[in-house]
Amino acid sequence: MAAFRRSTRAVLAGAGIVALLAPASPAVAGPTDTSDLPAYSTQLDRPQPSDLTFATECSDEPRDLPINEFTDHRELGIELDRIERNSDGRVEVEQVGMSNRGREIWSARVGTGPKAVLITSEIHGNEKTGTDAILDLLDWLSTSDSAKAKRWLDELTIVAIPKMNPDGAELDRRGNDMTWAEATARFPQLRGSEPAWNYYTGTLQGDDYSERPGFDTNRDYHPDLNYVPRAEDFPGDSASTGWYLTPESRTVRDVYRGLTAEFGTVDTYVDLHHQGACYVMPDDPDEFVTLSISGKFVDDPATMPGYEQYAADYDLDYSKRLNVAVYNALQGAANNRPLFGNVTLYPQDTNLPGTGLGAFALNGSGTVLFEVRGQTQTLGQQYRAVLTRSVYIGLDGMLSALASGRVDTLDPADYDAIPPRGPSIGSDAIAEAAVSSPR
Ligand SMILES: [Zn+2]
Repeated sequence: MAAFRRSTRAVLAGAGIVALLAPASPAVAGPTDTSDLPAYSTQLDRPQPSDLTFATECSDEPRDLPINEFTDHRELGIELDRIERNSDGRVEVEQVGMSNRGREIWSARVGTGPKAVLITSEIHGNEKTGTDAILDLLDWLSTSDSAKAKRWLDELTIVAIPKMNPDGAELDRRGNDMTWAEATARFPQLRGSEPAWNYYTGTLQGDDYSERPGFDTNRDYHPDLNYVPRAEDFPGDSASTGWYLTPESRTVRDVYRGLTAEFGTVDTYVDLHHQGACYVMPDDPDEFVTLSISGKFVDDPATMPGYEQYAADYDLDYSKRLNVAVYNALQGAANNRPLFGNVTLYPQDTNLPGTGLGAFALNGSGTVLFEVRGQTQTLGQQYRAVLTRSVYIGLDGMLSALASGRVDTLDPADYDAIPPRGPSIGSDAIAEAAVSSPR
C-alpha cells in the first residue's frame, strides 16, 4: 500500500526538456537536511519535465479528473496502521471520532515534547495533498534515527488528524455529507430556524448537493470551545462564529480541547488546504502561485465587540513567525526546483472566526494556513507529487524552527514582506496558449 505514494509520475519527455529545466547555476543546498530523506524526494526536489506544463496550463472550470493516486479513506487506515506498527511505539494512532456517515476519523500522535502542534487536512474533501504530506511526515518521523528527528520528538508533541472530513473526501467535494434535518435531530432547539448559511443544497465547484446536501465544515467552528448551538445564532454569516453542528468539527474541537487541558495552550495549529488553480505571482503573470500561506484569519479581537475576552491570548506576531519559517524553507528549496519559490501571502483582509484557524487563533495558538494550487475539480491528481512535496517542505521547515526554538528569532516583518497573491487569470486566456490543455 505504501509504494503507490512514493512513485513519481514524471515521465521524461526528452533530454532537451530536461536541459531546459536545469538550474542555471550550481544547485545550492536548501535548509532541509537531505542526508536523511527518502530517495524519492531527492528526485522531487529537482526540476521535472512536468514543470513546463505547470507553468502554462490553467483552468478553473470543474471537470471529472482522476484522483486515485491520492490516499483514500480505506488506504489511510491501512497506512496509519502500518506506520504505527513500524514505529516501535513512537506513533500512536487513535480513532478520535466518526464522520456523519460513520467513517472513522483518526489522529496520529508522535513526540513527547512540551510544544503541542495540531495539524489537520482535507477539511475540504477536494483538497487532498495535505493528507499525503502528513503521511510522508509521519513515515519519516516514525523511524528516523537522525538528530533532527530526535530533536522534534524531544521538543514537540505533534498530533495530526489527516482527512478530517472523510465523507466529503470520499465524495471528492468540499462539503461534508449531512442534512439540515440531521442537524436539527441532534439539536432540537434549532427546529424552525433557518438553515445555517454554510449549508450547501445547490451546485458548487461542479458538485450537485441537491440530493446529498452538506456543510462547509470549515465555517462550523467557534472560539468558545464549549459553545452549544442556539436558535438565535442562525442562519449566521461568514463574519460570525460557527456552531459545531458537524461531527467532524466537533471531533477536531475535542482533540484541541484535550490538548489545551494537557499542555495549557496548543502552541501551533496548521490547516492544509488548496485554492484556485489560476492565481499568478503579483510581479509575473506567467508564473502560477504554487502555494499561498497565511497566519491571519480574524480581525484583532481587541477591536471586535464581543471578542474582547480573546485579546490577551491572541498572538498574530507568533503566527507570522511560523509562516516566515514555512516561507524560508520553500525559498531554500527553490534553489533546486524554482516552482517551490512561487509562494505568496493569502489575502489578509479575511475575518473568519468560524474557521478552525480563526477559532483556534483566538484561543492563543499560532496558526498557519497552507493553500496549495488547484482543487481536484481543476487539477485532479496532476502535480500531486510536487504539490504534496511543497506542503512537506513547508511543514518540515516550520517544525524544525519550532523544535530548535529558532522560530522565536524570526522577524514578523518578514511576513509582511511576502509577496501578496496576484490575480486569478481564469481559464480562457491561458487555455488558448496551452498546447496540451487537459480539458
Ligand atoms: Zn479549503
